[in-house]
Amino acid sequence: MAVNRRILLASRPEGAPTEANFRLEETPLPRPAAGELLVRNHWLSLDPYMRGRMDAAKSYAKYVELGEVMTGGTVGEVVESRHPGFRPGEMVNGALGWQDYAVTDGTGVRKVDGAKAPLSYYLGVLGMPGVTAWVGLLDLAQPKAGETVAVSAASGAVGSVVGQIAKLKGCRTVGIAGGREKCAYVTAELGFDACVDHRAGRLYEDLQAAVPEGIDVVFENVGGAVLDTELRLMNAFGRITICGLISQYNATEPYGLRSFRSVLTSRLRVQGFIVSDRMELWPRALAELTQWVAEGKIKYRETVAHGLESAPRAFLGLLRGENFGKQVVRLV
Ligand code: NDP
Repeated sequence: MAVNRRILLASRPEGAPTEANFRLEETPLPRPAAGELLVRNHWLSLDPYMRGRMDAAKSYAKYVELGEVMTGGTVGEVVESRHPGFRPGEMVNGALGWQDYAVTDGTGVRKVDGAKAPLSYYLGVLGMPGVTAWVGLLDLAQPKAGETVAVSAASGAVGSVVGQIAKLKGCRTVGIAGGREKCAYVTAELGFDACVDHRAGRLYEDLQAAVPEGIDVVFENVGGAVLDTELRLMNAFGRITICGLISQYNATEPYGLRSFRSVLTSRLRVQGFIVSDRMELWPRALAELTQWVAEGKIKYRETVAHGLESAPRAFLGLLRGENFGKQVVRLV
């Protein structure tokens, strides 16, 4: 009997999740009904937002129920179709979850072309994280040439793209990343003007030295002490795009910003956003990102885990900064 393997949410974490919060189960291979298709997933995306889906808390999206398949973006091959819009052999990107196979009615599923870019890129620079970088920087923060842009989690899926777009727009671009190796990559490979190691213990001094003219735009991926430090260095009328607060995702107590006063004294604009709010911008963002990647203007790096069973451990590593670039799982 053909089987499907799926990873379910087994229990809810308190603080940092562990592998015990997940359960791998085998079920009979699902079959598509009329109007549906069966997809063999080849790639699974692991993303920080999944931590939020593990908590039964009110948020911008519904959480995963206990015993349900973990939510996740995927790229895979159509192996059987009873849907007029899809044929076997086509490669598709969707949110088909942490599983080897999935049946879908095609909602939110788009065809992707492995000849144009490696298939995993559609989960990163040519997918949700890339569009997040584009929307959060260009539509919300709107940096002008010559301004200084600070980006946290700068070597990661979103941050690496933010900084490279900011450079293309003529900005001075400063990254914040964990460790010397990531910082060296951010400057030498991605072309940021500077990168500060938040693990070195001198965040304020190092960031101050890296932004001699202050910060005009913050693209925030981390929050907590990193955001607190950036607030102290903001120029008047600066913009802060709150994209993510990963340092707080496992927190059991809220983080109290000590430097929030800067929002008043520097007359800052602080704007949170969720990339799915701006679906109308996705085609334009993806077209530009595709062109920049093809021209070599945006470089991209991945950490690849192998096999569905490796997903929980790789996800826990992502929350600890063990990934270097976009974290994906190769399923075949
Ligand atoms: P990354 O590839 O950047 O991986 C996460 C990185 O976060 C880690 O590698 C680590 O980098 C850093 N990190 C983790 N914990 C901490 C900590 N305690 N302090 C400082 N840094 C930490 O992930 P993504 O690019 O996929 O996501 C980046 C952010 O963007 C996340 O906050 C995510 O939630 C958010 N996001 C928001 C979206 C939206 O619509 N608003 C959409 C997509 C992502 P390092 O080792 O350098 O510290």
